[in-house]
Amino acid sequence: MSLPPVPPPPQSEAEDDLVPLGGKTQEEEDGNIFSHYYGQLSHQQNMLQDAIRTTTYQQAIFQNSTDFQGAKVVDVGTGSGILSFFSAQAGASKVYGIEMSRIALAAKKLMDANGMKDKIEIVKGKVEEVELPGCPKDEKCIDILVSEPLGFLLVHERMLESYIVARDRWLKPGGKMFPTCSTIFTAPFTDKMLYEEQRSKADFWDYNDFYGLDLRCLKSAALEEHFSMPVVGYFNPDCLLSNTTSDKFFDFRTCSLKELQTFEIDLNFVVEKTEVCHGIACWFDCDFIGGMGKTVLATGPDKPGTHWYQCRLLFQKPLAVNEGQLITGKLKFQANLKFSYDVDVCCRVGCGDGSGGEGSCGGGVETRNMVYLQDQHYHYLTNQSSAVDAQGYGHAVGNDVQVTKENGYNIG
Ligand code: SAH
Repeated sequence: MSLPPVPPPPQSEAEDDLVPLGGKTQEEEDGNIFSHYYGQLSHQQNMLQDAIRTTTYQQAIFQNSTDFQGAKVVDVGTGSGILSFFSAQAGASKVYGIEMSRIALAAKKLMDANGMKDKIEIVKGKVEEVELPGCPKDEKCIDILVSEPLGFLLVHERMLESYIVARDRWLKPGGKMFPTCSTIFTAPFTDKMLYEEQRSKADFWDYNDFYGLDLRCLKSAALEEHFSMPVVGYFNPDCLLSNTTSDKFFDFRTCSLKELQTFEIDLNFVVEKTEVCHGIACWFDCDFIGGMGKTVLATGPDKPGTHWYQCRLLFQKPLAVNEGQLITGKLKFQANLKFSYDVDVCCRVGCGDGSGGEGSCGGGVETRNMVYLQDQHYHYLTNQSSAVDAQGYGHAVGNDVQVTKENGYNIG
């Protein structure tokens, strides 16, 4: 018996490529796991509707319009084209919006429909591979880079590396970068509910007679797996156990790819209250430094919410801490092939110098486990008051549907 013939796929004009891809994903086409995700309008919408994010970028660009007057600009990962649009409005003479995903087609359509055809040129491809139409090969002819290459905990997605590649390929010496630099902040936290919630997820493996199977030999692996997932979501700043943070600063004007791929954050906190410490909370700020001043994009727990939320790295073995004691340790970040990072979390209380030697992290009572940033788990128990969008465009932050881990990928 023969099957009926399969009808050929409809032939489409370039513009009609905006309809969903059948069968084959962009990922399958070009090997970047985020390409399919960012190719969807709904995910671009989610970022556009993060009013804190979009408004801060607009302010940073408009506030420094003197920098943009007559400038040649590259928008690294233009997405919908929004930052190219702001740059052109601020006076740029030419903007190249580079975009690897098929959302480039939407950006072109949007920019053309908004009278930007002459000023904004959308270039489809990867920043690492494309040539700039108006820029001779190997010549640095760009005055300003704009980009939103920020993932949760700043570095997830490893897109900052593409930003640095663009800098080294095209930015004139002394050219401006928006954003210019960034700081990751960390602090110890307590959250018994969150800890118990994660721990109880492994209880399934306590069965000794599951359809006849004794599952218990996998219990410890299940626990390890749950505690290796970073928790992305808001938390109440009252959870923090120290008033001071341990920070890591990146200057995008000077930092190397290597510095982004392997780095450490030395932890050193004085405990403010006697509690159980369940892990290390992380968030970041970004600075935009232009000729006219500085604008800050802040994502901390005491700030209005953004689609980056905050990120918490749990200890599998919590630390009991007394007021006045020192928590020391290290977070070691190693970039991985999943466009993210393996993080070696190592902390101790009571003694030790925080040096985190091989195989052990020194003296005192210590805790150590791995966290894999690409395996993030979204947690919405605490809903931080989300930002008010004065322009009434709506605000996607806190909307579980749009920011859960669809397709196995993450935005943010
Ligand atoms: N600039 C837009 C989109 C930011 S999201 C905005 O601010 O709203 C980041 C975008 O960069 C995504 O659309 C993603 O597909 C694109 N991107 C990521 N890595 C890239 C690379 N190496 N080359 C080109 N585009 C890239």
